[in-house]
Amino acid sequence: MLPCQLNIAIDGPAGAGKSSVARAVAQALGLIYLDTGAMYRAITWKALKLQVPLTDANALGELTAGSEFCWGGPNGAPELCMDGEPLPAAIRSQEVTSQVSLVASYEEVRKELRQKQRELGKGRGVVMDGRDIGTVVMPAAALKIFLTASLEERAERRLKELGQDSSLLPQMMQAMARRDHKDASRQHSPLSIAPNATIIDTTGLSLSQVVDLVIWHARQVCLSEGE
Ligand code: C5P
Repeated sequence: MLPCQLNIAIDGPAGAGKSSVARAVAQALGLIYLDTGAMYRAITWKALKLQVPLTDANALGELTAGSEFCWGGPNGAPELCMDGEPLPAAIRSQEVTSQVSLVASYEEVRKELRQKQRELGKGRGVVMDGRDIGTVVMPAAALKIFLTASLEERAERRLKELGQDSSLLPQMMQAMARRDHKDASRQHSPLSIAPNATIIDTTGLSLSQVVDLVIWHARQVCLSEGE
């Protein structure tokens, strides 16, 4: 637990370990964890399921506006849900992963999700991870972290996570580089480092080392706020 209530923004490229770090930090500090990437994935999954053309920004914006995100997990755990149902495993499928950056490039979608993200975090200490959290969604967050790692290590971690063979490393590196490029070069809320963010390069660091570092920074913020 922290001696103050804090919002923490964690941004960075694909596979930098944001979700694992954000989840563990939130648990250690008694904060809510909001995975904003999962929301973009959920909208992409729903659009594919309902055959909404992924080139139709207005239709996707309407789909997003009509989707209701909620908190609700077993035993009252604050797990993200959509339209009253837990998020399906298919939001992590190859199909969704390859299309999500296109869907996330539309301002029509982003403005709806941004509002929902702020609502979901309102009134409580939250750890949010994504691409535009420190820059756009929570620009007033007391602590902003930008997590990164070498492309090779990020691709290795993702293969391990998916239980896939290391011979697929070149393809995975290529796919991740392509997604990073799309996320960093898009017109609306591109992936970028907030001016007052703390950059942590996680190459060669274990999950618990990174979690400890973020918690250390959070404590420093609380201490400086108490001065
Ligand atoms: O974090 P994750 O890799 O699950 O995010 C999936 C995609 O959602 C990203 O590649 C990006 O296109 C989009 N995204 C975004 N802004 C966020 C979070 C995710 O554009 N805040």
